[in-house]
Amino acid sequence: IEFEHCNFPSVLNDNLKKAGYEAPTPVQMQMVPVGLAGRDVIASADTGSGKTAAFLLPIVVCALEVKNKRPVTSQYGPMGLVLTPTRELAIQIERQTKELVMGLPNMRTALLVGGMPLPPQLHRLKQNIKIIIATPGRLLEILKQKAVQLDGVRIVVVDEADTMLKMGFQQQVLDVLEQVPEDHQTLLASATIPLGTEQLAARLTQDPVRIII
Ligand code: AMP
Repeated sequence: IEFEHCNFPSVLNDNLKKAGYEAPTPVQMQMVPVGLAGRDVIASADTGSGKTAAFLLPIVVCALEVKNKRPVTSQYGPMGLVLTPTRELAIQIERQTKELVMGLPNMRTALLVGGMPLPPQLHRLKQNIKIIIATPGRLLEILKQKAVQLDGVRIVVVDEADTMLKMGFQQQVLDVLEQVPEDHQTLLASATIPLGTEQLAARLTQDPVRIII
């Protein structure tokens, strides 16, 4: 596939070009159509494969479709949630998200990560956020304070699932997902899929499409 065949809004196609994304990478070719079709995905894909845009594009398209069906003035809370193990990864993912949504209305992102002050993150959440990029611990802390609700979330990304496990974040990921509606779509990416990761993936996905790069 080519990006032009995905029927993206023209602003999104322009943003892909501006970001230098001429042709989809192999993981994007496989994950984007499956993600747009609403299926759960388990992808073994490492950093450098283009996995970030592969999971962000279905989120952005879904957010645009939801918005088109609802009055733009309404506040429905975040519809996309990206969980990633480290602050550095979260920062990179937010940067790519901003590149993709540039010029699209009502597509604000929030970066909710540990190791950075909490008050600005709480403040940001008052601004009709559509996509959250978070590390699990900080997001749980914020959920405990009821500073955000995840009941409008439609797509969840679990990025670097193997690293999540290595860092001991499995229970935190599961606790966050308790607060997401059950019928959400899950896109899970992992560099490697050892048994523990496979078991977590099985708990988090329903009838997943497997993508191996
Ligand atoms: P990732 O594997 O998601 O960490 O992405 C690795 C790098 O590749 C990032 O800097 C992206 O901006 C870039 N990238 C992702 N998709 C494409 C694409 N289709 N064409 C060119 N660069 C890309």
